[in-house]
Amino acid sequence: MKVAVIGCTHAGTAAIINTANLYPDAEITVYERNDNISFLSCGIALYVGGVIKDPQGLFYSSPQELSKLGVTTKMLHHVESVDINNKKLQVKNLKTNEQFEDSFDKLIITTGSWPIIPPIEGINLKNVLLSKNFNHANDIIEKAKDANNVVVVGAGYIGVELVEAFEMNGKNVTLIDMQDRILPKYLDKEYTDVAEKAFRSHGVKLALGEKVQRFEGKDETVKRVVTDRGQYETDLVILCIGFKPNTELFKDQIDLLDNGAIIVDEYMRTSKKDVFAAGDNCAVIYNPTGEHRYIPLATNAVRMGTLVARNLVNPRTKYMGTQGTSGIKIYEHCIAATGLTEESAKDARIDVKTVTVEDNYRPEFMPTYDSAKLKVVYEKGSKKILGAQIISKTDLTQCINTMSVVIQNKMTIDELAFVDFFFQPHFNKPWNLLNQVALQAE
Ligand SMILES: Cc1cc2nc3c(=O)[nH]c(=O)nc-3n(C[C@H](O)[C@H](O)[C@H](O)COP(=O)(O)OP(=O)(O)OC[C@H]3O[C@@H](n4cnc5c(N)ncnc54)[C@H](O)[C@@H]3O)c2cc1C
Repeated sequence: MKVAVIGCTHAGTAAIINTANLYPDAEITVYERNDNISFLSCGIALYVGGVIKDPQGLFYSSPQELSKLGVTTKMLHHVESVDINNKKLQVKNLKTNEQFEDSFDKLIITTGSWPIIPPIEGINLKNVLLSKNFNHANDIIEKAKDANNVVVVGAGYIGVELVEAFEMNGKNVTLIDMQDRILPKYLDKEYTDVAEKAFRSHGVKLALGEKVQRFEGKDETVKRVVTDRGQYETDLVILCIGFKPNTELFKDQIDLLDNGAIIVDEYMRTSKKDVFAAGDNCAVIYNPTGEHRYIPLATNAVRMGTLVARNLVNPRTKYMGTQGTSGIKIYEHCIAATGLTEESAKDARIDVKTVTVEDNYRPEFMPTYDSAKLKVVYEKGSKKILGAQIISKTDLTQCINTMSVVIQNKMTIDELAFVDFFFQPHFNKPWNLLNQVALQAE
């Protein structure tokens, strides 16, 4: 069985390692246009902020590791076109410019995503940078050395993490977003209010509800960001306004969503036989609404890549879908969320109720304790739980993973009230926060 893989970050690496282990006789070739594989982008902010000193820890595989499994890794090789019906690839070696053809019995598409680059005036000025891969991370660190003023455009989790990293490094930081609050897709306002207050108290300027109109420069280097409501002097701009799937090669060949994300079934099969896909280039089934959504996360990528391998020959293991569970640390605040927020439920036209509990996470007789705020969103009629968010200074984010299981298994708020959770004064109270919040809903 000849297996071709396009792209070797998280989804690709997971698919390759598992395929090689499950089918030792398979002839696997992976094409990767970058000069490294398996880079953990989630470490970029920590690397930029100086928390991670040795970036080698951000890689967990290499062509040498893959070759021990019998896999051929073609680095700096760009797949230029794919003929899915005839099972052929056209590849360019980016070092030699040599072009050649390859064929496959099974194709695994793990081409991932790329940052959205809006057609704004001045976007090509020097020091307007992206934040996606290892080369970007190094570029940001290098350019930040001489920068006093930094503007981050986009207040999703990537932008927000970078803002904190730059501020901790002593930069004057401005965060611009056209939405009127940060992290609006992940958290409701009472949570983002706390995070915004933390940023402001550290001197970060939040330019929210402002749309970038142009970048102005001097000597071809960015110097100012002009929005519809103001202008900000800057030495460096990082663009973090979202991602789009890398699927141009497959247009009109396999079924895609309107944004270009590949539609796969629960076995990671595309609409064409013997062609599988995983990771940021795919849409996923979002359990709270049951629809396909574009949720580019490493967690989805590694799961889907592993499932491609398991289902490559026969459909064996189904993907259970996702809740888009995520966590973030903003200064001393540990925050996590899963499923729908109250606001996103309204956008999805789902009639929901919410319940919030704010309590000390462990008994007040303990030498220290602090408060946590947990909010649960559930459907009005069925009482099915659809989402949850938590914020606290003590790390209680794991309870959101529990809530992810609750949503995946379609539990109701009434059922959650009496689930058996342990009690031990070091960790919690006799009524666990998850029970407490559900009891209050009754
Ligand atoms: C700054 C940052 C922080 C993040 N933090 C988190 C986090 O904390 N938690 C989390 O779950 N997720 C996080 N993510 C998201 C996560 O990194 C992505 O979901 C993950 O990288 C997706 O992996 P992937 O393999 O599907 O795609 P990608 O990482 O996009 O990799 C695709 C690969 O395909 C290659 N490729 C594409 N086209 C071709 C072609 N034609 N020929 C050859 N090679 C090709 C690319 O070079 C690339 O190496 C973060 C992302 C960023 C940018």
